[in-house]
Amino acid sequence: MTEPRLIARNSSEKFVELKEKDLHILKSPTLDGIPWLRHGFSTRVGGQSVFPKASLNLGFTEFDLRKAVEANRGAFFEAIGMQGFSVVHLQQIHSNRVALIESGNLTNPNIEADAVVTAVPQVVLTVLTADCVPILMVDSGSHAIGVVHAGWRGTAQGIAAKTVETLVRKGGGPASGLKAALGPSIRACCYEVGEDVLAALQKTILGADRYFSRSPGGGKQTLPDERSGGGAGRGKKFLLDLAAANRDQLMEAGLRAENISMSPACTGCQPELFFSHRKENGRTGRMMAAIASIE
Ligand SMILES: [Zn+2]
Repeated sequence: MTEPRLIARNSSEKFVELKEKDLHILKSPTLDGIPWLRHGFSTRVGGQSVFPKASLNLGFTEFDLRKAVEANRGAFFEAIGMQGFSVVHLQQIHSNRVALIESGNLTNPNIEADAVVTAVPQVVLTVLTADCVPILMVDSGSHAIGVVHAGWRGTAQGIAAKTVETLVRKGGGPASGLKAALGPSIRACCYEVGEDVLAALQKTILGADRYFSRSPGGGKQTLPDERSGGGAGRGKKFLLDLAAANRDQLMEAGLRAENISMSPACTGCQPELFFSHRKENGRTGRMMAAIASIE
C-alpha cells in the first residue's frame, strides 16, 4: 500500500444538474429517464436554513430551525416531483440494518436502519448525508427501489450488498438487472482515516488495501470525532476512497458496471455546493438522497 492507486472505471459519469427555482439538484444519468421513477440528490444551494445560513439543510440539526428544515424538505420534494407522497426517514446508526416497507400507510416513519427497500409506489425512501456515501437502487422489472447510507462502518459491514440481496428477494429480478447511483460523498482527496478504519475494512473486504493510500499529512491531523474514524490522531494516516469500495461491493453483489453511476464530486472539495461534516468540523447541514416510484 505504499503507492496511491488510481481506481477509475467508466462508471464515473457527470450527473445531470436540475436547477429548479433556487435549488440545485443532482440526478444520476443511470436513473434519469426511467419513466416511473423519481429521484434526486440535494445540494446545499437554495433553502431557508438559519445555519448554515441560507442553505438547503435537510436534517434536523441542533443549529437549525425545525420550521426551516421542513420548508426545505417540502421544496426539495416538490422540485423532484414527490409532493404528497409518504416519506420514510431513517434513524441512521452506522449499521448494516436494511428495513423493508410493505405498506404506504406508515405508522412509524422513523426507522432505525441505514438502508430501506420498498416495492410500494409513492413512498419516498430517503437518507441524509454530509460526507458518507448515499446510494439509490432500482429494480426496473418489479419497480422495487432501495436507498443506502454507507459510512465506513456500514461499508465494512457490507450494507450495500445486503441491500442488493433484499431488493432481489423483494423484486424477484436478478442483481444483474439492478441499477444504482452513488451520490456525492467525501473522496480520497479529503478523507483521511486512521489504522482502525483500515483494519475494519481489511477484516471484511477482500483486497481492501486498494481503497487506501498513504496520507501525505499522516499522523499530524486530529480527526473531528470518533465516528469519522481514526483514534484521536495517533498512528498512521490513510486516504480512503469509500465510494469506490461501495461501487465494487455492488458489482461483487452482481450489478453490472454499466448499470452503476457514481458522482465524481467530492463533498470536501466543493464547500459552496455540498455540506461536509469533515471539512466543517461537524457544524454543518445535511443533504438528502431520495427515491420513489410513481406506479
Ligand atoms: Zn476532496
